[in-house]
Amino acid sequence: MQFIDLAAQQAVLRERIDAAIAGVLDHGKYIMGPEVTELEAELAAFCAAPQVVSCASGTDALVMAMMAFGVGPGDAVFVPSFTFASTAESVALLGATPVFIDVEAATFNVDAGHLARAIAEPPAGLRPVGVVPVDLFGQPADYEAISAVAEPAGLWVLADAAQSFGATRNGRSVGTLAPITTTSFFPAKPLGCYGDGGAVFAISEEHAALLRSIRVHGSGSHKYDNARIGINGRLDTVQAAILRVKLSVFADELVARQRVADRYAEGLGDVVDVPRLGEGCTSAWAQYTLRLTDRDGVAEALGSEGVPTAVYYPRPLHQQTAYRDFPSAVGGLPVSEQLAGEVLSLPMHPYLSEADQDAVVDAIRRAVGA
Ligand SMILES: *Cc1c(COP(=O)(O)O)cnc(C)c1O
Repeated sequence: MQFIDLAAQQAVLRERIDAAIAGVLDHGKYIMGPEVTELEAELAAFCAAPQVVSCASGTDALVMAMMAFGVGPGDAVFVPSFTFASTAESVALLGATPVFIDVEAATFNVDAGHLARAIAEPPAGLRPVGVVPVDLFGQPADYEAISAVAEPAGLWVLADAAQSFGATRNGRSVGTLAPITTTSFFPAKPLGCYGDGGAVFAISEEHAALLRSIRVHGSGSHKYDNARIGINGRLDTVQAAILRVKLSVFADELVARQRVADRYAEGLGDVVDVPRLGEGCTSAWAQYTLRLTDRDGVAEALGSEGVPTAVYYPRPLHQQTAYRDFPSAVGGLPVSEQLAGEVLSLPMHPYLSEADQDAVVDAIRRAVGA
């Protein structure tokens, strides 16, 4: 049994992916070839986003978005601590200060109440400019509540949707829930390529134009008159070609992921704390994550029965070496610290067989003595 079975998906798509890669080798436009533009149009159609700018990774997407917002030294950007490093790393790379805020235990996502306290009492000497909610494990954060706190205070909202592309909130798709949204096409993400890749979604044309410039070294209207500092952030044409094939089955895969989540909830809901979606939310189910008091014991028992599991994340960012000296918001991060000791993610992918899933459910029921 695989934690995420990319080979099962490849078996279904292999011929089409081979043909897509061969198409790129035939036309030879390895950088910004036609597949890149076609993919951007298809991503935009998929989530009804007005603007899509593909890029080289989810991390570059965050860096490009921060640059588009003009983040720099002296700026405080509120980010959850219970997330992957890139969320805070992109802030620090631009010389600004990530300020950690706590999450809600029920959704693993940013606590808008704590954000409000953090804005009211920011760390001394810093100017709050923005907030980066993360759609952890695939479920969109509460953008209505977060925007209601952030916007009156003059803060921008940047959605880190690296794990949630394909999800919706109150009928609106991820990619349209904040002025700028970023995602990742890392192979293990719900929509993954065969290398690194990412995208930035924007509502306004101004942001999109800025992002397209930043993606190519800050290019201006003349090739050798760069208008601003940028990066080399382009998505490879080969990866775009692969993603187009994968995107064509993505809607069906999301249905399959939901079916797996429903069966887990049925099989486990009476004995452990299973994930619950907030009202009006669908999830891309990047991870199916339980909260367990004896997490390490259960993980070991599952491992001995051949059931792979993973812990996202064993240590919140504010306790990691590189991030320890950045400030946490007033009141501290008790929920993030507690979750780090309780979470356990189960095998989750669209091709998980019912037999394998039953084996996971049985092993967990045995491990918790049910
Ligand atoms: C994976 C991930 C990223 C980074 O994406 P890469 O494509 O690996 O650079 C950023 N934020 C979150 C929450 C992620 O899970």
